[in-house]
Amino acid sequence: MATVNAYAAQSEKSPLAPYDIERRALRPDDVAIDIDYCGVCHTDIHFAENDWGMTEFPVVPGHEIIGRVTAVGEKVSAHKVGDLVGVGCMVDSCRGCPACESGLEQMCKEGFVATYNGEDRHDHSITFGGYSDHIVVSDRFVVKVPAKLDPASASPLLCAGITTYSPLKHYGVKPGDKVGVIGMGGLGHMGVKFAKALGAEVTIFTRSESKVAEAKKQGADHVIVSTDDKQMEAAAETFNFLLDTVPVQHDLNPYINCLTFDGVHIIVGLLDPVEPALQAGGLVMRRRVLAGSLIGGMPETQEVLDFCAEHDITCDVEMIDIQDINTAYQRMKKGDVKYRFVIDMKSLRA
Ligand code: ZN
Ligand code: ZN
Repeated sequence: MATVNAYAAQSEKSPLAPYDIERRALRPDDVAIDIDYCGVCHTDIHFAENDWGMTEFPVVPGHEIIGRVTAVGEKVSAHKVGDLVGVGCMVDSCRGCPACESGLEQMCKEGFVATYNGEDRHDHSITFGGYSDHIVVSDRFVVKVPAKLDPASASPLLCAGITTYSPLKHYGVKPGDKVGVIGMGGLGHMGVKFAKALGAEVTIFTRSESKVAEAKKQGADHVIVSTDDKQMEAAAETFNFLLDTVPVQHDLNPYINCLTFDGVHIIVGLLDPVEPALQAGGLVMRRRVLAGSLIGGMPETQEVLDFCAEHDITCDVEMIDIQDINTAYQRMKKGDVKYRFVIDMKSLRA
């Protein structure tokens, strides 16, 4: 066991503050990692503030982790000391169910073990995430960071990146497809980059006219202001694929109407009931598909890092010190970040 520095929330009312945690002694398949960078995801805020009523306090958030290997267990061959590696949203799963055997650990029948606020399958301790200077993770859940990638701006690929990449790949988005990305936050801005790299013609849907210039700057070919009914009606039956990153309830009907027949609308940001009600006729009459998607498995998480290295894709990030984390949360709640905060973990060691 090793005692390491971290930042934790002690209750839903208390801000994140310094807190010492224990990291386990290496198991045979474990990789020990000194954390250099950790991206800040909206899920971190939901857990720190117990928005979903399932937080075990104290909680150390963070599941977009990049760091260097400092030690490996005796059975580890895929990673060695000094390697630059990443850890995303999962640190374990049952490894034996059909999903796990297909490399879709996020769909594990027994539930994957989350990087933080999960329960370790062996010692039943609660997992602590990446707002920390060190972590110990089983090798199956550690990915390699290609040398070509800038490590700091690569960290959000481990959640925001894989979340948007996976459905584009699963539904076979290809050159010439018309793809719409709904919402332009941490997820949306990555969705645009991936869809462009896959050869699609990309449109950003934004609620506000004031964001049109920024959307174009992000590389979108077109922008539709979704609050303008005329623009939405003009887009009827034009999109093959819609990537919906909006994290709050919103009317899906006008978007479904924008799909071609056989078009696909994928939800990645919403867990609540769909409101207002969905008109099933909009799906049935045009054989359209409405579905959801959750992060991606470990092989695909490696694939997204390799894809980004190959296509020169990085996230747009704003670096912060760990001491600024509570201010960063406040800014994220107002949508005031372009597009992901990343913590420089040197600040925790200082
Ligand atoms: Zn996340
Ligand atoms: Zn499983």
